[in-house]
Amino acid sequence: MFNFEKKPEAISAGVAMLTCPVCRRAGAFYSVDNCNDAGWQVRREGTVNGRPVIDIFHAGMRICPNTTCNALVFAELKNDEVLISYPPEVIDFDATNLPPQILACLEEAIKCHASSCYRAAALMVRRTLEEMCVERGASGNNLKAKIENLRSAIVISKDLLDAADELRLLGNDAAHIEAQTYDAIEAEEVEVAIELTKELLKAVYQHTSLVARLRALKMPSAPP
Ligand SMILES: [Zn+2]
Repeated sequence: MFNFEKKPEAISAGVAMLTCPVCRRAGAFYSVDNCNDAGWQVRREGTVNGRPVIDIFHAGMRICPNTTCNALVFAELKNDEVLISYPPEVIDFDATNLPPQILACLEEAIKCHASSCYRAAALMVRRTLEEMCVERGASGNNLKAKIENLRSAIVISKDLLDAADELRLLGNDAAHIEAQTYDAIEAEEVEVAIELTKELLKAVYQHTSLVARLRALKMPSAPP
């Protein structure tokens, strides 16, 4: 099988700093010693503004350092910076206590973002909101009305509910040519949208489960 030993000289030999797409932990992904694909390197020498520049490229299989995972990832690096990796890195999130249909939508949004499919990701963020409204019993003819109805159905900050409406508008832009609330739907817009969705879901589903866990740790004789 693979030799997982880290060698000091490997630090300058294309170590990829990545968040694992499988276990989602960050770490130093080393090359796989006895894998033929690991050793591709190119040294490119040139000049920039009259000064000599050397770029070193690496490409090949890298392995997750988490010994319970050891997932294999293909990475291409320039001067030890990751240019591309496959499967791609994904935005981390906490799945605790999320209803399955909401979790599935959020996961799909994050996978779309990782694959640079930003409009598809924005649509799935909007779908995540719709699923949350259905699960919380918010009524209304459209998503705008349902988000408005959520204000009386759940107790979370006004800012987060305002954020939900912004996510709805971003999703509209992704779905309709004529809708133009945002200049563009690219990596940054979607990253912020996913982070806001995580905060929203945390407030609705995860704070209560944390409180319940803490209460379960109380002594039976503790005052109520
Ligand atoms: Zn891993």
